[in-house]
Amino acid sequence: MDILTSPGEMHTWRWGCGGTVGFVPTMGYLHEGHLALVRRSVAENDVTAASIFVNPLQFGPGEDFERYPRDEERDLALLEQAGVAAVYMPRAEAMYPEGFQTSVETREISLPLEGASRPGHFAGVTTVVLKLLNAVMPDRAYFGKKDAQQLRVIQRMVRDLDVATEIVACEIVREPDGLAMSSRNVYLSAEEREAATVLSQALFEARDVFGAGERNAAALRDGVQARIAAESLAQIQYVSLADGETLEELAGRVERPALLSLAVRFGATRLIDNVELAL
Ligand code: AMP
Repeated sequence: MDILTSPGEMHTWRWGCGGTVGFVPTMGYLHEGHLALVRRSVAENDVTAASIFVNPLQFGPGEDFERYPRDEERDLALLEQAGVAAVYMPRAEAMYPEGFQTSVETREISLPLEGASRPGHFAGVTTVVLKLLNAVMPDRAYFGKKDAQQLRVIQRMVRDLDVATEIVACEIVREPDGLAMSSRNVYLSAEEREAATVLSQALFEARDVFGAGERNAAALRDGVQARIAAESLAQIQYVSLADGETLEELAGRVERPALLSLAVRFGATRLIDNVELAL
């Protein structure tokens, strides 16, 4: 497995590739959610590259950039085992050298939800993802539905800027008790970890209620809100029922595919999760 640490090295590797290249960008501290993306890329492409880069641009002041969990050695072993051919691990100075001053931003799609809770977050995401796509030049790039708004923001950017990479959306991988896998789950105390199961339970219940015919947006959203509010360790940041494509908040009847999503804090740990409501 090749390790590349600058855009120039990555380009040289890419030009030496025959066939299709799949790409899985990550911030490392890998879990089964990341590995599901990797396995899919390995199955669908001739070669797969992954990246590990904890991107300072997408963390706000007071967020967890400094303490974001890292385990490079384990990550590399897992990627190699999964059949990855190259890992892009740019040094921060190679990504953002002195004088760096360009930002890529989507507009409406990045304003609600995570964008409202984390100002500047998506500009950091789109800027780094475009840089990664430009360095790797993949045929396909794999992203998880766990970060549902991020996925839409990246799809929008790729369409708007004519990036020649197909964005492949992958299902959320969950722990056996339903908690969506996340590198940040390691921050949870045993008590918080247990309490956090309320998130997927509330979302799944709402999806069942929707499946049984409930179409009132407020009733669906309030059901999730109430279920989570009953858990004393949970501090809700938002519960949203939005248009599945534009992410505009829905009122009245749900007549189109929708996204039910939330961000909830348990102590210092902020978790996100979502389910799609398909008609
Ligand atoms: P991260 O390392 O958190 O930036 O995530 C890298 C990629 O893995 C993103 O496309 C995430 O959406 C995806 N991902 C993270 N957790 C999961 C999960 N539990 N299931 C599916 N994809 C995930």
